[in-house]
Amino acid sequence: METKSMPVLFIGHGSPMNAIEDNEYNRTWRKIGQTIPRPKAILCISAHWETRGSLVTAMPKPKTIHDFYGFPRELNEMQYPASGSDWLVDQTIQALKITEVQKDLNWGLDHGTWSVLATMYPQEDIPVVQLSLDRTHDADWQYKLGQGLNVLRKEGLLVLGSGNLVHNLRMAIFDDTIAYDWAVEYDGQVRDWILAGDHESIIHYEKHGKSAALSVNSAEHYLPLLYVLGASEPREPITFYNDKVMMGSMSMRCVQFG
Ligand code: ZN
Repeated sequence: METKSMPVLFIGHGSPMNAIEDNEYNRTWRKIGQTIPRPKAILCISAHWETRGSLVTAMPKPKTIHDFYGFPRELNEMQYPASGSDWLVDQTIQALKITEVQKDLNWGLDHGTWSVLATMYPQEDIPVVQLSLDRTHDADWQYKLGQGLNVLRKEGLLVLGSGNLVHNLRMAIFDDTIAYDWAVEYDGQVRDWILAGDHESIIHYEKHGKSAALSVNSAEHYLPLLYVLGASEPREPITFYNDKVMMGSMSMRCVQFG
């Protein structure tokens, strides 16, 4: 009998403060954690780990990385002491046949991962592995890597992309009630493409003019979405959460397939 696949998730992580605040965004993440089947382990593709070559964290106890500045001490002292998983590392290396994934012993869990998991899985008892964004390849390649990750879902593993669908810090306004027209437009456009199963349009964002260029900007927060789209399957249920643009230029939209 075929076992049911785990959902695959993209989370718009926004500010690191979401790790310690209680707000509408992380209340949703908590609810997702309580609703979906409990994963055996989590493979997270975070916007905050860009590398040359593909790496997976392979240490038994990945350290909590505080990769930000100017935040309160409480956040700088936060720990997310989940264990790693040799099994998930091996599964990932086997699944990604189009590239040679190397084991990494230096990174750990960056805030793209732990700021979300701190509320989604506050017990810290599910093993977590990160897969890096290999920036030597284009968006189409990142999507193909995501397709390779689909098999992990059948093993009871959660594939989690953590970034922001629209992310442009250069344009950010410190007011949560304001959203630029181009940010709202591109966020809605991507939502429609997801619903239509039009992944090609999402991959080739550079073809879609100014709103796409401003929204995707340096792309590292957008690319984790491509992994999630790659790992999804046609005709499975699609759920959106937190469909809101904050700070003018940051979409908090989350997407769940399955
Ligand atoms: Zn980020």
